[in-house]
Amino acid sequence: MFLQLVEFIREQYQTKEFIPLHAPVFTGREEEYVLDTIRSTFVSSVGAYVDRFESDIAKHTGAEKAIAVVNGTAALHVALMLAGVKEGDLVITQSLTFVATCNAIRYCGAEPVFVDVDLDTMGLSPAAMERWLQDNAQLDEEGICRAKVDARAIRACLPMHTFGHPVKLDELVKVCSHWNIQLVEDAAESLGSYYKGRHTGTIGLLGTLSFNGNKVMTTGGGGMILTNAALGAKAKHLTTTGKRPHPYEFVHDEVAYNYRMPNLNAALGCAQLEQLNKFIEAKRNLAKRYCEFLKNSNLRFFIEPEDCRSNYWLNAVVCENADQRDDLLKTTNENGVMTRPIWTLMNKLPMYANCMRGDLTNAEWLEARVVNLPSSVILEQSQ
Ligand SMILES: *Cc1c(COP(=O)(O)O)cnc(C)c1O
Repeated sequence: MFLQLVEFIREQYQTKEFIPLHAPVFTGREEEYVLDTIRSTFVSSVGAYVDRFESDIAKHTGAEKAIAVVNGTAALHVALMLAGVKEGDLVITQSLTFVATCNAIRYCGAEPVFVDVDLDTMGLSPAAMERWLQDNAQLDEEGICRAKVDARAIRACLPMHTFGHPVKLDELVKVCSHWNIQLVEDAAESLGSYYKGRHTGTIGLLGTLSFNGNKVMTTGGGGMILTNAALGAKAKHLTTTGKRPHPYEFVHDEVAYNYRMPNLNAALGCAQLEQLNKFIEAKRNLAKRYCEFLKNSNLRFFIEPEDCRSNYWLNAVVCENADQRDDLLKTTNENGVMTRPIWTLMNKLPMYANCMRGDLTNAEWLEARVVNLPSSVILEQSQ
């Protein structure tokens, strides 16, 4: 069966060579725009492509403001700071995620609290979060949510839209507002994914995107903060050394960061964004073909949650058990088709092993069974 899957994937990509999990495609005006930055000498922290990329992303996602930064992790760091996360605070997140989600929490001096994911989204479960809060948290006289055990403030909730599949945002918004917790979305994997018609990353107070080389579209390396106008202005200030605007004087009014996206990278981003809809159409078509091919197999193809339109960043299958998963990984990788298990749970990594956590039954169940299949955009067949 798994050799048939290898054959099927080779047919899709029409190659006998190694097939990676996700490779970028540059079929638009990438060279033209990047060359333009070189010829203009504006390759660095100032340039027209940065402004254009920010406004194009804002338009595309419906965000009031979009602030371009060096990578998705930096975007998360600043988004959490702007949500009010401080030294000694707690941030509720999922244990089934990429490590950057948790690292950004730590950069703020805060600690993650791990709650379970839903089996139909692979993202943070509002019900699991509500259960954990009822057992472990209370609102103080000022309305601040605090852990019962040590009175640390639970300042924010940071769900992640796993492989582009949106989490249950309506329910999360409800839980967060009841407990006075700020919602920040890690939408690094979900550019082009929609929850009930709204772009992921625009429903929380802040959201973040990543344009790393393996994401839906790339700037080489890069990220974006999505938020409202007021926080957008603060985000710009905090990511550009905290400099007061002035034609020549250097006045900086707070300890800030140099997290600016270079114009060179933004140029690549502008060209990629022009093709995003086409990329996602191609990815959704590939997902449809995987789904059809796997219908009568013992692998369950993971489909988009109800009321959502996913970008299908990385296609995923759920195996029957860990042994079958290992067989699948071995057969495909030995035959030059790259597949990968899902991440090791964050609570199993040494630096996050002692964090507070709720029951993680679903996360553990998925950790043992989920495998990603090659998902690069295939343009010929979708046009
Ligand atoms: C890619 C990714 C990020 C950010 O990655 P960068 O490489 O820093 O751009 C953050 N969270 C998740 C879940 C990711 O997949």
